[in-house]
Amino acid sequence: MGYAQMACSDRPEMPTLGGRRIGEDYGLRAWVVEKPAPIDSHPLKLVEKEVPHFGSHQVLVKVLACGVCRTDLHLAEGDLVPRRPKVIPGHEIIGIVAATGDAVSDLQLGDRIGIAWLRMTCGKCKYCRRRSENLCSAPLFTGWDEDGGFAEYATVDQDFAYRIPPKMSDEKAAPLLCSGIIGYRALRRANLPKGGSLGIYGFGASAHLTIQIAIHEGARVHVITRSEEARQAALKLGASSVGDGSQLPPEPLDSAILFAPDGNLVPRIMEALDRGGTLAIGGIYMSDIPSLSYDRHLFQEKEVRSVTANTRKDGEEFLDLATRIPVRVNTVPYNFSSADRALEDLAHHRFTGAAVLLMDS
Ligand SMILES: [Zn+2]
Ligand SMILES: [Zn+2]
Repeated sequence: MGYAQMACSDRPEMPTLGGRRIGEDYGLRAWVVEKPAPIDSHPLKLVEKEVPHFGSHQVLVKVLACGVCRTDLHLAEGDLVPRRPKVIPGHEIIGIVAATGDAVSDLQLGDRIGIAWLRMTCGKCKYCRRRSENLCSAPLFTGWDEDGGFAEYATVDQDFAYRIPPKMSDEKAAPLLCSGIIGYRALRRANLPKGGSLGIYGFGASAHLTIQIAIHEGARVHVITRSEEARQAALKLGASSVGDGSQLPPEPLDSAILFAPDGNLVPRIMEALDRGGTLAIGGIYMSDIPSLSYDRHLFQEKEVRSVTANTRKDGEEFLDLATRIPVRVNTVPYNFSSADRALEDLAHHRFTGAAVLLMDS
């Protein structure tokens, strides 16, 4: 069912108590990280919970779709230690506003919005003041500090809600909110010169969106991934070459992005960079990086940089660009009740593209 048909007036069970506590009888189904453990041992549990409370600047959102990101897997497995017990993962949320806090002025009931990883910043620290809010010293993240979108309802502050372009379906829009935005920031951090060459290492949800932006902007893109299926997908999206990493790309790279969470790849990528080239590391989690040789890996002004979350400006720029190109989003739909299977399939590389949980309608 499309969101347009889900007007709140048709749903008498929807709470409309602006900013006030919602009755105990409004329950929701949610997946929680019971105890972080290897994904095959089922660390996620489906539970019944109370619909979350929301503050005066927040809205309650009925979740329609939620993307499944590698960060959710790291959280479930404990690589990323949950910051609250039984946290609900999920930070690529598309939903409709089901109730608004008293001070909400920018959003209305029935608006379709997105909730992303960066949930709140302090607005006061030196990083926030210099417009690097992604580096805020007291940030909150969706599905880590606060509950996320593997649930029937979620909440968000009105200032951190994204407007979702009407042309995009819930399923196609969800992965844009993390995989897409982070890939976009990684591309900007990789400092790709006009008409330059870009290496993409690892080809999952972020990479398949980032490659489309880079090619749209005139880059030649070389994709390195162990998966034959992913190599074929990269060629279809316009990659100039694909490889499994056993050989250097066919030309020196002006820029590279490492999406695979494997620090062992860093020295090899630094060797593939041209003089003045930049490697941006896109993941929130990365295994240790082996020692680098100054002469082979860094001299000639090669740079290695990390990518930390994103600013809201990155998100707005990316959603606008993705709509204009428009990017094709390769999604693998999963029923909400199969969230644990989606994470297992992600862990075992059983699909290419982006898994999305769809709510039962
Ligand atoms: Zn701050
Ligand atoms: Zn993510």
